[in-house]
Amino acid sequence: MAIYTGEEIIIEFANDAMLELWGKGRAIIGLPLYEAMPALEGSPFKHMMEQVLRTGITDAGVTTVETQIDGLVQTRYIEYEYRAIKDADGNTYAILQRAANVTERELRKIRLVANEAEIQALNEELTISNEELSTTNDELAQMNRELQTSNVDIRRLNKELKEYTANLRQMYDSLVESESRFRELVRQAPVASFIVAGERMIIETANGMMLNMIGKDKSIIGKPLVEAIPEIKGQPFEGLLDEAYRTGETFYGNELVAYLEHNGRLVSGYYKFIYQPLKNPDGSSHSIICIAFDITEQVSARKAAERAEERLQLAVEATELGIWTVDWETGRLSLSERSRLIHGLPADYSLTLTDSFEMIDPKYRDDVLDQINLAVMEKRSFRVEHLVHPKDGSSSRWLRSTGKATYDDAGTPVQITGAILDITEEKRNDQRKNDFISMVSHELKTPLTSMNGYLQVLQRNATRSGDNPSISLAAKAIRQVERMMKLINSFLNVSRLENNQIHIERKCFDMAELIRETEEESMVYGSNHQLVFAPAEPMMVKADRDKIAQVINNLISNAAKYSPHSSTIHVACRTQDGHAMVSVRDEGKGIAPSDLSRIFERYYRVNNAESQTIAGFGIGLYLCCEIIKRHDGKIWAESTPGKGSTFYFTLPIDPEVR
Ligand code: ADP
Repeated sequence: MAIYTGEEIIIEFANDAMLELWGKGRAIIGLPLYEAMPALEGSPFKHMMEQVLRTGITDAGVTTVETQIDGLVQTRYIEYEYRAIKDADGNTYAILQRAANVTERELRKIRLVANEAEIQALNEELTISNEELSTTNDELAQMNRELQTSNVDIRRLNKELKEYTANLRQMYDSLVESESRFRELVRQAPVASFIVAGERMIIETANGMMLNMIGKDKSIIGKPLVEAIPEIKGQPFEGLLDEAYRTGETFYGNELVAYLEHNGRLVSGYYKFIYQPLKNPDGSSHSIICIAFDITEQVSARKAAERAEERLQLAVEATELGIWTVDWETGRLSLSERSRLIHGLPADYSLTLTDSFEMIDPKYRDDVLDQINLAVMEKRSFRVEHLVHPKDGSSSRWLRSTGKATYDDAGTPVQITGAILDITEEKRNDQRKNDFISMVSHELKTPLTSMNGYLQVLQRNATRSGDNPSISLAAKAIRQVERMMKLINSFLNVSRLENNQIHIERKCFDMAELIRETEEESMVYGSNHQLVFAPAEPMMVKADRDKIAQVINNLISNAAKYSPHSSTIHVACRTQDGHAMVSVRDEGKGIAPSDLSRIFERYYRVNNAESQTIAGFGIGLYLCCEIIKRHDGKIWAESTPGKGSTFYFTLPIDPEVR
């Protein structure tokens, strides 16, 4: 403890402890403080003391002081208190200072704090370690579990390995078995096959079909290929086999020509074959299986077909025929170059049957369609003539179109193939011919009519004068004139037909009655044949009576013309399917099937020695056919050559009176 007074801060009192603290002797008492201890001048104590002197407020605390003791700077902790001692007026006149060296205590305290921090740190570390420990523990547990699992895995793997090995063994066994089965298969195969092994191509197996194909027997098995089939030397097979063996690639040969020895003779043939290398696990080949097919027949047939096709092509080109095919289902039409040109179509033009029909003149369209449909249904060929207006606007053309459908197994049409011919020029010539015939007929008719008149007068005069030879001569002349008139009329009818000038005047009449009339007429005129008319029920038709009478007469006169004298001609009339059907049967020479389909064509006459002796122009049946067609009826003939023919025609029965 120390007491200071006055402004100079005189040390009034200092006890021993203070002196010791200062490290001074008693001599300093009575001296101003800073004189006694100049070191204090710059210390914080000076400032504190001045503060207490000025304010009178006690200041206390702990502070550090650096002092030199034995030449060493030491830090000491000093606990201090500066207290102002005041007079009655409250003025500070002295300061009481208490100070204690608390370095030990403070240091201890600091150490304690440091320790605490350390403990704290340690604690924290401990916590962390603990945590780590627990993590490690967890990991350990996990590892433990994993270890257990992997133990299980190892056990399972072990088991699988065993199973795998067993499977492998089984596979190996079955492989061995399947290889022998494979060889057996090759032997039994329904195709010619053999196996050659190794580079030397030793024949291992060859089935019966292969032995037959190469013309060898079982003795070749076990021999190298070239030794077994010496004739293949120089042929491509050896090289091809070798290549398949080396590359390991399957070889497919098609239509290869091979020369094989059969019974001492080299025979050539076409073959299709496969060389399939069989491989070791390392990919190298150990043998080759060869499969061969003898396709000589197919190839020859194809080549023959190709030659035929070529010939057909030549013929088609020479005749300027256009070829067309239509797919029945899609209606898609494919045309040959010539067909295209005829129709004035550009190169890549695609069209259907319907499109092509649009080019046909409307006047002929329905007829063409009906005829094609009918022929397809009846599975026969058709032949139609019609006018077309080409797509490119060039002048109209007349075409003759023939064709026939092909059918699948079920009888459904697949496609129609046909040919067209440009007959425009032919038609033009026809027209000229028709015009000429019509003109000539007219010119002939006029003098004939006059001649007929004069003959009638002559006949009358002869009758009047009873000149019998003249009567008979006149009658004969009149008959000849009538025959000639008939002929001329039929020519005129043809040209009228061609120019569409024929008129059908439909009236209702009984067909049975018309037949009866014909019978009566035949009795009047007499005949070299026996005419038998079957009795008929009345049947009303609506038709041109004169023209139908002309048809019946024509058929009867044909029957007479083409059958021997005094043979019988049967005429009958009956109803069938709502139609009146008239038939004229003769016992004549008959008509060959090839002619049967054509006798209704204009100017068509059967060309044989016999018919050439019989006069005619081939227009009678054509006229009959045209007349019946214009009545929506049908006309046809059936015949057995040498036995006779029957001509039929039908007319629809008038629905109003049926
Ligand atoms: P034409 O009798 O004037 O030759 P058609 O048109 O009447 O002409 O007959 C065409 C062809 O049909 C005849 O040339 C003949 O060969 C054949 N023909 C017609 N009717 C018969 C028949 N009843 N028997 C055998 N052939 C016949």
